[in-house]
Amino acid sequence: MFRISQYLRDLATAERTGSYPALPARRGAGLPGPVVIWNLIRRCNLTCKHCYALSADHEYAGELSTQEVFTVMDDLRAYRVPVLILSGGEPLLRPDLFDIADRAKVMGFYVGLSTNGTLIDAPMANRVARARFNYVGISLDGIGAVHDRFRRLEGAFDLSLAAVRHLHERGVKVGLRYTMTDLNAGELPALLQLMHDEGAEKFYFSHLNYAGRGNIHRGRDAHFIATRRAMDLLFDTAWRDAQAGSPREYVTGNNDADGVYLLQWVRERFPRWVEPLRQHLQAWGGNSSGVNVANIDNLGVVHPDTMWWHHSLGSVRERPFSTIWSDTSDPLMAGLKQKPRAVGGRCAQCQHVAICGGNTRVRAQQVTGDAWAEDPGCYLDDAEIGLDARAAGATERVAVTPFKSARSARIEDIPVVSS
Ligand code: SF4
Repeated sequence: MFRISQYLRDLATAERTGSYPALPARRGAGLPGPVVIWNLIRRCNLTCKHCYALSADHEYAGELSTQEVFTVMDDLRAYRVPVLILSGGEPLLRPDLFDIADRAKVMGFYVGLSTNGTLIDAPMANRVARARFNYVGISLDGIGAVHDRFRRLEGAFDLSLAAVRHLHERGVKVGLRYTMTDLNAGELPALLQLMHDEGAEKFYFSHLNYAGRGNIHRGRDAHFIATRRAMDLLFDTAWRDAQAGSPREYVTGNNDADGVYLLQWVRERFPRWVEPLRQHLQAWGGNSSGVNVANIDNLGVVHPDTMWWHHSLGSVRERPFSTIWSDTSDPLMAGLKQKPRAVGGRCAQCQHVAICGGNTRVRAQQVTGDAWAEDPGCYLDDAEIGLDARAAGATERVAVTPFKSARSARIEDIPVVSS
């Protein structure tokens, strides 16, 4: 996750005081475990076009029982996991969701809820408020019919917007979650306006990642020029808020080249702060899959992050999460934990790899078959990464080819996978 507001608040401080804030203390041995995103249930009342979990509205056999979830929570706490993000499917469909959330709060976790919002009417909002979630993220991919088309449910936008309002009336911190593709790239200005109008505390901008239905629809990924325009708009908006002292937060996910792009944005406007910003960005280090962010799926299988459901690290039914997470006998896990990562292609030649960490390995793996190839989702051009495309040894960029199933089916014909 790339925290735009954090860097722009530092920049605002630097502009105001003439001094750039110091680097935060470094993480090291004995410090907290990863943030765990936990897909407690795969069932969902929606079948969204970009769903990495390929969820549908039916039961999935073999999901963790309440007691199994509690046992895992004990291990996570002992492993010093600081944050649990309860997700799905639609987590509110899990009957014991509030028991799990209550226990997580009592144990001292920061607890987030990631929901499509369509099930949050006034009574449900009361329950969510009583559960004392630290944060509730509600997905909105556009205004009105655009969102409904993405979510494949007429009226989904109205239901989700009503959820935002119900929760705000009850004092719950709410953020909007938006995933951009070429189908909804034009919705960003209106969604940012909606965020301001509704008083939402956070805006999470997700680039498309190539997992689940997001991989099936990867041919609809936003063009680089649209991505750059979107980032310009996000930076400009977050900068205005940072200067005004607003607590609103803007974050992005699934494309760590955003850090490099912010460095360029600052170079063009505030060149004297480029070097301190670069140091802060390098301290962040970009992609943290398999390191500072982890995923447990509905069956208890651990993955390097939510986009790696096709790669299992082991089951919490067989080994504790803490054991699985620290085991680097898995080559992918060993590679993700290596610093710097042994990325190839143009990422290996990029002068900013210390900032972005080589970006999102899932996209590289899904498109090329090699998890360490260049990230085809990097929207920076050769000059921006310090690469001379005419130099000897320079190679063509990897193209994002449309997804093809093993049976070469049409996208519409690909069935939802059930377990
Ligand atoms: S070329 Fe690779 S390492 Fe460089 S910014 Fe793009 S994704 Fe990151």
